[in-house]
Amino acid sequence: MGLFNIFSKKEHKEDLDKGLEKTKEGVFSKLARAVAGKSKVDEEVLDNLEEVLITSDVGVDTTVRIIERIEKRVAEDKYMNTAELNRILRTEITALLEENKSAGEENFSYEKRNGMPYVVMVVGVNGAGKTTTIGKLASKLKNDGKKVYIGAADTFRAAAIDQLAVWAERAGVTMIRQDMGSDPASVAFDTLRSAVANDADVVLIDTAGRLHNKIGLMNELTKIRNVMAKVIPDAPHEVMLVLDAFEQAKQFTQATRVTALAITKLDGTAKGGVVIGISDQFKIPVRYIGVGEGIDQLQVFDRREFVDSLFGE
Ligand code: GDP
Ligand code: GDP
Ligand code: MG
Repeated sequence: MGLFNIFSKKEHKEDLDKGLEKTKEGVFSKLARAVAGKSKVDEEVLDNLEEVLITSDVGVDTTVRIIERIEKRVAEDKYMNTAELNRILRTEITALLEENKSAGEENFSYEKRNGMPYVVMVVGVNGAGKTTTIGKLASKLKNDGKKVYIGAADTFRAAAIDQLAVWAERAGVTMIRQDMGSDPASVAFDTLRSAVANDADVVLIDTAGRLHNKIGLMNELTKIRNVMAKVIPDAPHEVMLVLDAFEQAKQFTQATRVTALAITKLDGTAKGGVVIGISDQFKIPVRYIGVGEGIDQLQVFDRREFVDSLFGE
């Protein structure tokens, strides 16, 4: 057991390092260019740094905050060497992430509420990684000894239901489905009923992201929520937004109350900075990060570990 833990911990760190490789390469090569031929941090270096952060998907507002903090430091220490820029950036990003920490965020786990299953409604645009994240999460929870039910409430395409079924099977959990085209709220209702009857610990509800406008999206999500509350009054206990780009956060937080985030595909792009911007701007805890397509490649987000991996220890 001990050995296994050490092994999986090492793999976990390797996955994270590997996942952030592209971001790291991008940020550091751009940083190197930003300070090329410069010995001291001046206006021009700061302008370049601003561009580095924005192109790493940190987001404009958060970039401005970071730059302001560094400007303040530069003002205090007029001859700040460009060689120190990495270290300073790291310190400021760590501080920023710490400030945005919310209570009860660490050691979070999904537990029954009032003897009823803990219900997570998963939302996000098409292709963001909802189904994959649900599969990975179901597997993780199942390995933790939880009884998990999944609801296939993305009923728009038959392929979506089948894809989720493959993940449910891989994870070894039960999935509740209806035919393609059926009412998502009805699937959610069935899933909760079944989960309660079978004394499940956690329910994960997949939803469709492909709705033409905000009103349509809002109406559908509201309907699912209302129907679930008929089975478990305080459900959903969590609305988890799965996203892979900054602007998706705005769209969904306007359509429904989002309580947790999962940021996917950190391995696929050079835009790992999205984690920094999103946790700063939305004040919604980042619960998980996706660092690959494999079933074990969903990680509990740990700020310190993230910064260590990004900047090296
Ligand atoms: P959905 O439409 O939101 O349900 O998205 P899917 O779960 O179908 O995922 C869309 C694509 O993104 C699939 O090809 C997934 O394999 C891929 N994907 C999801 N999460 C990750 C991740 O963390 N890393 C990588 N590389 N691919 C991912
Ligand atoms: P289009 O997007 O305007 O071309 O509409 P479609 O022909 O693709 O969709 C047909 C019907 O399916 C419409 O009545 C939509 O309300 C509905 N629909 C579209 N996307 C979704 C979705 O993601 N989920 C659900 N439940 N219904 C959808
Ligand atoms: Mg899906």
